[in-house]
Amino acid sequence: MRRPLEPTGDEFRALVRAAANHLAEYLDSLPEQPAHDSDGSADLARSLLESVPEQGAPFEDVLKFLFDRALPKGFGTAGPGYLAYIPGGGLPHSAVAGLLAETLNRYVGVWLAAPGLVQLEANVIRWFCDMVGFPESARGILTTGGSLANFSAVVTARCDRLPANFLGGTIYVSDQVHHSVDKAAMLAGFPMENVRVIESDETFRMRVDVLERQIVADRADGFTPFLVVGSAGTVNTGAVDDLGTIAKLAAEHGLWFHVDGAYGGFFVLTDRGKDALKGIELADSVTLDPHKGLFVPYGTGSLLVKDGAALARAHTAHGAYMPAMQEDPDLVDFCQLSPELSRGFRGLRVWLPFKVAGVGAFRDALNEKLDLARWAADQLRAIDDIEIVAEPELSIVAFRAIRTGLSDNEINHVNHRLLDAVNRRQRVFLTGTTVRGRCFLRICVLSIRTHQDRMEMCLEDIRSAMREV
Ligand SMILES: *Cc1c(COP(=O)(O)O)cnc(C)c1O
Repeated sequence: MRRPLEPTGDEFRALVRAAANHLAEYLDSLPEQPAHDSDGSADLARSLLESVPEQGAPFEDVLKFLFDRALPKGFGTAGPGYLAYIPGGGLPHSAVAGLLAETLNRYVGVWLAAPGLVQLEANVIRWFCDMVGFPESARGILTTGGSLANFSAVVTARCDRLPANFLGGTIYVSDQVHHSVDKAAMLAGFPMENVRVIESDETFRMRVDVLERQIVADRADGFTPFLVVGSAGTVNTGAVDDLGTIAKLAAEHGLWFHVDGAYGGFFVLTDRGKDALKGIELADSVTLDPHKGLFVPYGTGSLLVKDGAALARAHTAHGAYMPAMQEDPDLVDFCQLSPELSRGFRGLRVWLPFKVAGVGAFRDALNEKLDLARWAADQLRAIDDIEIVAEPELSIVAFRAIRTGLSDNEINHVNHRLLDAVNRRQRVFLTGTTVRGRCFLRICVLSIRTHQDRMEMCLEDIRSAMREV
C-alpha cells in the first residue's frame, strides 16, 4: 500500500535533493534579485487563495509553485541589499540544522527526552552567557525571537520584584525603546499607563537624570518602580543606552535591569562592540536575537537571566502526566525556564554554525558590518545637503537630506521622496523613521550577505537619488 505521508529512505533522499537544488539556485540568485518588489503584491496574494487539496501533486510541481509563484514580491530579506529594519540574512548552515532537527524530531522540552541534544542547546546558552559576562548562576532560553524574550523578561522581573497583586508596579523605558517591550508589559498584565517613557538625549540615549527623578516621584506617589529596560542598540538609530549608569541606578532603587540587546547585543563579540556595550554584564537579564546578530534564519531569539532561579520561579508549573524534572543544577529542563513545552530544537541552528565555522567567523563578520556602517557614514558626510542624524555606534547610520530655506515639514517630504527614489532602484532596500517630528533614513548593515560592493551600490543610489529630490 502506498503511504504518501511516509516516504521511504530513497524517496526522502529525492525530496531533500530536489529541495536542495532549488535552494542552491535561490542562494546563487540572491545578488541579482530585487532588494524589494511590492508592485502587485495584493493581486498576487489574492491569486493564491486556495481550498484544501483533496489530491496530492508531484513534489517538483509543488516546489516550482512555491519558488516561482509564492516566493516573489515583498522584501528581499535574505539578499545583500536588505539594509532595512534589522537584517540578518540567514545562514545556510542553520537552515540545514533546521532540516536535521526537524527530521530527528527529538523532544528538547524536557531533559530526560533527549539529554544529549538538550545539553547542546544548554551549551549555546552558556556561550551566550559568557559572551555578555554573566556568571555560572545564569540560565537562559532560546525563544522564537526578541519579542518573546522581552516578554519572559518582564514576567520574570514581575515575579521577582512584585507581589501577586502587581498593578502598582511601574516600568521604565526610553522613548527609543522597541515597541515589543510595550507589548511585553501589556501581555504581562500591566496597563500601558504603568510604562513610564523617559525622554532620550540628543544622541538618543535614555536621560538617566530624568529616569531617577521619575522613579523617585513614582515611589512618592505610592507606585512600586520595579523594572527598567535599557536598549543595547535601538532600531531607530542604533543608540546604546548608558548601561553602566542605569545598572547602578537600578541597583540603588531596587529595580530589575533588563537590557534589550535584540539588535546590538551580539556585537559584544567584537572589541568595538564590547566597548559600546560596557555595563551589559551588570544587567539582571539580557535579550539577544541570534536571527539578527548571529545571522541565523528567522525564528531564534534568546533571553539570559543572571539569577537563573528567578527565571525558573517565573516559568515553573506541574502536570501529573509529566516525567520527573531534574534536581541536579547541571541538568536543565527547558520547559521550566520558558513559556513553552513542546517546541523545535532551535539550539541546533546556532550550535551547528558555531561548530562548523568557529566563533572567529562570527566576530569577523560582525567587524565587517561595523566597518561598513562607518564607511557609509563617511561617504554620506561627503554628500552636499546630507546630514548625519546618528553616527554609527554599532552598524546603523541614520541620515537625512536637508535643504536651506525649507520648512521642517517640507524637509520631511524631501526625505520621503529620497527614500522612495533610493528604493525604486531596487538594489538596496532602506527604511525610514521619525524621531521628534524629523523624518530620516537609516542604513542598517547586519545581513551576512552585505559586503563592500553592495554598500557602494547603496551610496551610488543615494547620490543619484539626491539629484532627483
Ligand atoms: C528586533 C527587535 C526586537 C523584537 O525582536 P523580534 O525578534 O522581532 O521579536 C526587540 N528589540 C529590539 C531592539 C529589536 O531590534
